[in-house]
Amino acid sequence: MRERTQFSIDLSILSQNFEKLKILAPKNKVLFMVKANGYGHGMIPIVQYSFEHLGINEFGVATLGEALALRDALGQYPFDIYVFSDVQIELETHHEKYLNRRIIPVLSGMKDFEFFLSNDAFTYFPLCLKFNTGMNRLGLSMESLPEIIKKLKGHGRKEIFHLITHFACISGPADHKLNLEQIKNFEEIKRTFKNSGINLNHTSISNSGAIEQGVGLENTHIRPGLMLYGPSSMARQYAHLSNWNGQCIGRLDTYVIRIFKVNKGDPIGYGGTLVPRDGYIAIIALGYGDGFSTKYQSVKLQYKDRSYEVFGRVNMDMAQLFIDERSCPLKEGDHFTIWGHDPEDVLNICQQMNSIPYELFCQLSVRIPREYRI
Ligand SMILES: *Cc1c(COP(=O)(O)O)cnc(C)c1O
Repeated sequence: MRERTQFSIDLSILSQNFEKLKILAPKNKVLFMVKANGYGHGMIPIVQYSFEHLGINEFGVATLGEALALRDALGQYPFDIYVFSDVQIELETHHEKYLNRRIIPVLSGMKDFEFFLSNDAFTYFPLCLKFNTGMNRLGLSMESLPEIIKKLKGHGRKEIFHLITHFACISGPADHKLNLEQIKNFEEIKRTFKNSGINLNHTSISNSGAIEQGVGLENTHIRPGLMLYGPSSMARQYAHLSNWNGQCIGRLDTYVIRIFKVNKGDPIGYGGTLVPRDGYIAIIALGYGDGFSTKYQSVKLQYKDRSYEVFGRVNMDMAQLFIDERSCPLKEGDHFTIWGHDPEDVLNICQQMNSIPYELFCQLSVRIPREYRI
């Protein structure tokens, strides 16, 4: 574990982001996506805070394992957990886990759906279906709607607890052809169910990109992930289409282990990358073992109005910064913030390394302690 390198999470910023979200979507219930360890921020403290202080009582994870970890840690809290992709409901050993812990599987395949219906233990369990409206990843097909309705009726089911679909291109303009088609398809699915006498308790289509553009809010629920952690999920060139102005809840801090003067042409570190000019090299306590991946090579980090290039190869336990100046603005032991609460920090890094904030957050490894402030 690290000590001085840490990811500090300010939960009061999460609270502010949530208030801002309520302004964008005042009428919708929030199903907060906390998969992948709360997008790297720590699923359990994030959920605990969100339940206790923000009144959120529905959370989404990707795997049964994540759901079990959440119930194990916070079993006393009466919130709903949805498992979205890695459901494994067909495994006998897993039924009990869903049933006993009231974990709701999001059924996105015909086999899972049939299995759920034909298993008596699930008779009074919430039925949650995810449809493919055009993303072509997971999801029940629209062609199978008549068959699904027939099976529901055959098993005396009169309602769907939560009907879900997911956008493919909503980090781009809302009026993109595929987005419009997905919205139209979802409306058609809802209509078909209702016309067949199947009641829809909850419906949702909107993740961050949709919420940021005011799309899909006619449904009961929204499913924000990234935006509540801070950054907009819109692609850089469409940032102007977003109504989001959240702050990053996490700040990634490291510190300077060593600093030394270098002359033009000196080889530095693995591979002996040659420094282009006289200057300084600062060694920071962050490497790919911490999730500071090799893609950070050559990225220019902004810190206190100066630019620092990640120089040469990123190592497992440290990385080099090149300081292109006559007098060195840093000294050994100094703090160095990789990104702060301003989402521009993270978005700038992403743009340079051709990545996305989702990935930057998720890749932070267990070696970096998460520290929480309220
Ligand atoms: C991850 C996920 C979300 C949240 O997406 P963001 O872009 O982070 O807001 C919503 N819905 C589903 C089905 C997801 O898998």
